[in-house]
Amino acid sequence: MDRGKRTSEIEKYAASTPLSKKLQSEAEKYLPGGSSRGTAYFAPYPFFVERTDGHHITDVDGNRYLDFMLNATTYVLGHANEQVVGAVQKQASNGISYSTPHESQVQLAKMLCERVPSVEKVRFTNSGTEGTLNAIRAARAYTGKHKIAKIEGGYHGNHEYVSVSVYTPLDKLDPVEPTAVAEWPGQPPSVVEDVIALHYNDIESTERILREHADDVSCVIMEPVLSNFGYLPAEKKYLQKMRDLTNELGMVLIFDEVQSFRLASGGAQEHFGVIPDMTTFGKVIGGGMPVGAWGGRTDLMDLFDPTEGPIVSHAGTFNANPMTMVAGLATLAQMTPEVYERMNALGDVLRAKLRAVFDELDVEAQVTGIGSLFGIHFTGEEITNYRSVLRGDQAMQKKLFTGLLNEGILMQTKAAGCLSALTTEAEVDELVDATRRVMLRLR
Ligand code: PLP
Repeated sequence: MDRGKRTSEIEKYAASTPLSKKLQSEAEKYLPGGSSRGTAYFAPYPFFVERTDGHHITDVDGNRYLDFMLNATTYVLGHANEQVVGAVQKQASNGISYSTPHESQVQLAKMLCERVPSVEKVRFTNSGTEGTLNAIRAARAYTGKHKIAKIEGGYHGNHEYVSVSVYTPLDKLDPVEPTAVAEWPGQPPSVVEDVIALHYNDIESTERILREHADDVSCVIMEPVLSNFGYLPAEKKYLQKMRDLTNELGMVLIFDEVQSFRLASGGAQEHFGVIPDMTTFGKVIGGGMPVGAWGGRTDLMDLFDPTEGPIVSHAGTFNANPMTMVAGLATLAQMTPEVYERMNALGDVLRAKLRAVFDELDVEAQVTGIGSLFGIHFTGEEITNYRSVLRGDQAMQKKLFTGLLNEGILMQTKAAGCLSALTTEAEVDELVDATRRVMLRLR
């Protein structure tokens, strides 16, 4: 794992992507870092896409990658699904967006209300960020309390209150207590003061801290499967405790299912049998179009009811635009219980095969994940929370990522990814065999 070998993976990548390199330097003239999206960048530069089909992405240099990134878990049916593309094409010819409602939003709302246990009513946005922003706003308006609690290391989008303690380095965290730390300079101190950090899966400290701040905390927002920790599922007893505590202390429990809503037709909440007050959505429910949503109990959602006021206003020029709604409908209609079951079972196979490769090569690694989601960490320590993730060898995750690109496989830069309904054991084996080859080169 010396520097020279890492350079050679990057050099190999650079040698096969000259047109992307050229486009990146052009992009850097007009866009900071050549990009409009933090997570789209990776060193030395991301490849530029020519087109996608099924399980694959082809770049502008003609390289073809087996895609386990799937736009950050969005493409649950794979790319360019025929029904989704057909629905979008048909809708485009009838109008891209309107200022008054279209029936498709009612159909998608109905589908979510019928499938997701916590959702009695729902509202659509154009991003998961807006979904979590509005869910938090609702919790504050409902409870009259102003603070929020979130898991240290949890990501809930790009707005102010959730941009606290997301990527904080270890040396900025209190050695023991979960710590609220601003993500960037200039965040108002009041924002950081109003966010209470919690340790994932730690019932004792979570209970102590929530009780201490009970008078001020409006909501707990958390993912039942923590994406940034390699899709680490919460322990069921932790989720249940969170449910009981928030009920007792008058806090709204928000499950952020922007990513975990590919575990079952009712999301991770159905899988765990723990039902929050509100749920936020994104990615899968828009079939590849820009999307977000939040939904929950009627009394919480009716805060936004314009026929009654509303108490909290929510506007957005492209909210529930029909292009997104029809793409979401065409996607979810194909996600039958059998599809979830098959994808989740293949996820188990993948995790077992990856563990076997690391054992065979005597590499200290943890494979996390649940259902169709997986993550790889280079550490001998069990992954339980943010700090255990940080103690892993993150440079090694990046090396694996680059090595896999050179094998024609795309995953997330932090060595995590997901399967799609198109994945078969052949694609699983392709990823496992490529991982073995890369690890042999990196050793
Ligand atoms: N919440 C979670 C768990 C996410 O993973 C993301 C995006 O990756 C968001 C919220 C924000 O969604 P968006 O990127 O659509 O704003």
